[in-house]
Amino acid sequence: MKQRLQKIYWTGILVTLLMAAATAAGAAALRIADTRNYLTAMLEASSKWTLDTNADLQDLADSIADSSPPLRAVFLLDSGLVIADSMDSGTDSGIFHDHDPEIEAAREGKTGTAFRFSGRGGSLVLYMAGRVAPQLLLRLSYPVFETAKYLLFYGALLAVLFLVLHRLQRAEITRFAKDHERQMDEVRRLLDGEISDAEAVFPEYRPSLDSIAYRSRRLRDDREEILRTLNLRNDFIANASHELRSPLTSVRGYAEMLKEGLADTPEERELCLDMILSESGRMLEVIEDILLLSKAEKKTYRSEEMIHVRPLAEEAALSLGPGASKAGIDISCTGDMQVRAAEKDIWEILYNLTDNAVRYGKDGGYVRIVMEPGRIEVQDDGIGIAPEQIGHIFEQFYRVDETRESPAGGTGLGLSIVKAIVNGYGGRIEAESTYGEGTVFTVTFPEEVLP
Ligand code: ADP
Repeated sequence: MKQRLQKIYWTGILVTLLMAAATAAGAAALRIADTRNYLTAMLEASSKWTLDTNADLQDLADSIADSSPPLRAVFLLDSGLVIADSMDSGTDSGIFHDHDPEIEAAREGKTGTAFRFSGRGGSLVLYMAGRVAPQLLLRLSYPVFETAKYLLFYGALLAVLFLVLHRLQRAEITRFAKDHERQMDEVRRLLDGEISDAEAVFPEYRPSLDSIAYRSRRLRDDREEILRTLNLRNDFIANASHELRSPLTSVRGYAEMLKEGLADTPEERELCLDMILSESGRMLEVIEDILLLSKAEKKTYRSEEMIHVRPLAEEAALSLGPGASKAGIDISCTGDMQVRAAEKDIWEILYNLTDNAVRYGKDGGYVRIVMEPGRIEVQDDGIGIAPEQIGHIFEQFYRVDETRESPAGGTGLGLSIVKAIVNGYGGRIEAESTYGEGTVFTVTFPEEVLP
């Protein structure tokens, strides 16, 4: 990163300096072109003037040199001998310019041009020479600019420019590099979890950081969900094994008693057989509930058919009627509601809730199945559920009375099955209870499955 910035930095400076130099060269080229045009015009004009004597030539040279911008005018003979010089008014100076390229060209009748450094003026000079009369040449010279001054000026300008650029860019690059390093450090700390607040980091990274934070949150949630599911599965296996082991142990025990002839009388043998039947029946009940629960959790609940709940409630009440009558419990159904669901699922909900209400009911009490649009309530005036227990009753294998020997004891899966079905339709199930006075289970369905 640092190296790249350095590269950009030096390239920037080089380009700027090159541009400055190109601008200076362009300005110089324009100046030279102007001067050349001017000298050409002067040469052409001079050839039209009448030239008589040396004195006239000196005057003429002086008057040409007086023009603006000031020139140096030199009249020479073809041999190169100077006969009039605006910078040297003494004629016949005896100086020869026979080898200068512009003079040689002028001798051949052309307009000679040369561009060289003159030691005398200490500057870069443009020379132009041409024939103005037979045997007479005129050379005009003009210091295009005073080289030393020019170089000094532009050199100083470039140096200042370089320094300013150097300062500016260095400061900017240093600031940028520092910012970048700090930002990267903050990002690293955020990812390492050393800081949790993405707001503290620079705004330009916000969208990416928000997205990283969102993804890591999702990953964490997914991981927790997987762990929770694994734990639930482990609990489920442990509970199911426990539920099955108890009746199986009893079955084995009674079977062994029979085999070893420990049940002597026919009554004792009858008792052993009854126990084996009831315990194996219990095992079957647990297995059936496990299968039902697993189906209820896997199933996708969707039905096109809108059904009436009332007939199903009456059917459930009828099936549970004999048991309820034994305890003097009265089951009643009031109202009706419609729901888009499979009859079997609604029956399962009603049957389980009503069965619980009867099993945990009081002798001579009541069970009411109340149906209203969008909701079903199953009310009883039974034993109720203590407040510390009510939060657990929908858990798998949870029983308020841990001793499975309780006369009302079920598998502890009924409410889990009901909840799985209700959830499958997008509904909710809630329980309200007053310990010792009764319980109300309320099932509500979402609008999508209602008329
Ligand atoms: P179970 O097969 O044991 O009835 P459930 O899942 O149906 O299992 O019920 C879980 C527990 O919730 C029961 O053990 C019981 O203690 C309590 N319960 C459920 N319904 C009622 C109710 N109507 N009145 C009192 N307690 C109830």
